[in-house]
Amino acid sequence: MIVVKTKEEIELMRESALIVSKTLGILARQIKPGVSTLQLDKIAEEYIRDHGAEPGFLGLYDFPNTLCMSPNSQVVHGIPNSEPLKEGDIISIDCGALKNGFYGDHAYTFAVGEIDPETEKLLQVTKESLYVGIREFKKNNRVGDVGYAIQKYCEGHGYGVVRELVGHGLGKKMHEDPEMPNYGKRGRGKKFIEGMVVAIEPMINMGTHRIKQHRDGWTITTLDNKPSAHFEHDVALVDGKPELLSTFAYIYEALGIESNEEEEFRQKQLML
Ligand code: MG
Ligand code: MG
Repeated sequence: MIVVKTKEEIELMRESALIVSKTLGILARQIKPGVSTLQLDKIAEEYIRDHGAEPGFLGLYDFPNTLCMSPNSQVVHGIPNSEPLKEGDIISIDCGALKNGFYGDHAYTFAVGEIDPETEKLLQVTKESLYVGIREFKKNNRVGDVGYAIQKYCEGHGYGVVRELVGHGLGKKMHEDPEMPNYGKRGRGKKFIEGMVVAIEPMINMGTHRIKQHRDGWTITTLDNKPSAHFEHDVALVDGKPELLSTFAYIYEALGIESNEEEEFRQKQLML
């Protein structure tokens, strides 16, 4: 059952999403060769607690940390450890926060120093596919329309779309209805309704879409050990259109990247 949110609840959810956005911005300044994912995890936990929230993942389904840290061929759900990041790595960071009873949940894949152009392109295309998907989260559309758009875009670049892990409704629970796969058929699945909030999160592999799970019960890796990228936004359906609750702006500010992708997205929505 889809739990619809009131305008007031959506504003509370924006607050939770923005705590995650700001946490990712703080982390962006710290990501460099030599830093361990466990060090970054501590920074994130402290920041979230200092801002009146609780880490959203810590203890959820018994996950042991604040961040899911998935380097290189890890897709998602990697557990932070003391191994230092290396020049040329990529690191997918997924972060959750719980404030006022509502969850925020979003993710970004970072480059550690200089990365090779092929991997850079994977990151770029995966991030673009996120907006391609979000555009389809609108009145009269269905779950399959978002998945279809993401899949078509990514497979068009020769990439593999992970099947076993999906986006989801978000609210007082981290995972609410509906499931939001990154693949699908147009016009299929549950219809979107005003006031629903979802986490849309393409997990895209450079090679095969197939994955394997590690013995730790958490870490998911690509079957061919090629790199994987993960970008996630929290989005509400307001006035029949997708409204971003999370933002990458703090990341871009930290990294000195000029990007108007979110503003462009909003302008395009206004013209529809
Ligand atoms: Mg997430
Ligand atoms: Mg999620």
